[in-house]
Amino acid sequence: MQDIVTNDACAVPFRDDGLEECAACLMCGSTAAELALSGVGDLYFHADPGSFAIQRCRACGSLWLPLRPVGERLVRAYSGYHTHTEHADPTVAPPAWREWIRAAYYRSLFPGVASPLDRLVGLGLAAIGYDTAGLDKELRFVPPPPAKVLDYGCGGGRFFRQLRGLPFQFYGVEYDPHLLSALADQGVHVEDTATITDERWDSEFDYITLAHVLEHVPDPVALLRRLFGWLKPGGALYVELPNAGATGLAIFGGTWRGLEVPRHFALPTRPALVQALEDAGFVVERQVIDPAARSLLWGESLAAAPEGERTAMQEAIAGAPSETQDNAELLIFIARRPAK
Ligand SMILES: [Zn+2]
Repeated sequence: MQDIVTNDACAVPFRDDGLEECAACLMCGSTAAELALSGVGDLYFHADPGSFAIQRCRACGSLWLPLRPVGERLVRAYSGYHTHTEHADPTVAPPAWREWIRAAYYRSLFPGVASPLDRLVGLGLAAIGYDTAGLDKELRFVPPPPAKVLDYGCGGGRFFRQLRGLPFQFYGVEYDPHLLSALADQGVHVEDTATITDERWDSEFDYITLAHVLEHVPDPVALLRRLFGWLKPGGALYVELPNAGATGLAIFGGTWRGLEVPRHFALPTRPALVQALEDAGFVVERQVIDPAARSLLWGESLAAAPEGERTAMQEAIAGAPSETQDNAELLIFIARRPAK
């Protein structure tokens, strides 16, 4: 991720605290900002001891850190980070029967791959009225195999394991050397963010997934442009990240799970993300609302909040508006590179 710093507004004047200044909105480039939150700490991983301010862009509403970690301090902020340790924890594995049903359901979505038994499982889930929205979202709406799929920022390879058994061609990008070798051992074609070049993957992929990555990179707009070039004409990008316009932020403020200071450098609003995708050349096809996001993010946010604030937060939860495209906890979009 460190190889795409092109946002000149975040050039690095010398500081001795491991932070770099960032004067402009990472989504639209505006320098007109107001202080949204201050004194926000690393509540969820406790890897950075600092206390951070978060600015809101007056032009597009997106959030960003005006001071963010760099160099060794950034490396420390990722020590023990969940996507980098998940593969080592066998206790988080779901039960085998659920895995079997999930794999059969996934195969049932692709007629060229599904066995009669898989189709029966798909029909059975529909017949009992099982809500498959969560399963569909985990599959990230991939096109049918044998598509060439890149998971940019693939972490420990969780997405690849979910698709295991389906004849996709899997590619990954990561920066952590331990993960790179572990993924290569699993048969994933994996490249290092520090050395991958645009020539290597020009117009290469049918589908690229970018799940909880864009908020971590120093220049999200540059990354969207780069991935546009890595897609085949007609290919599509799946992008997922917390929403700067989320109801959860209004309820929980600095303890909202989506902030994850200081690893999240910027969060866009819905209009800002759509604009950035369109500016990169994409046609935005679809927005998905994750039905599980509120319970997950709000549960963790409430648990992290000071005890004295929880009653007011619970009252705010009870009176919260329904989830919409603008106030969803997560922005999830599928955007296509036009075929011509
Ligand atoms: Zn902006």
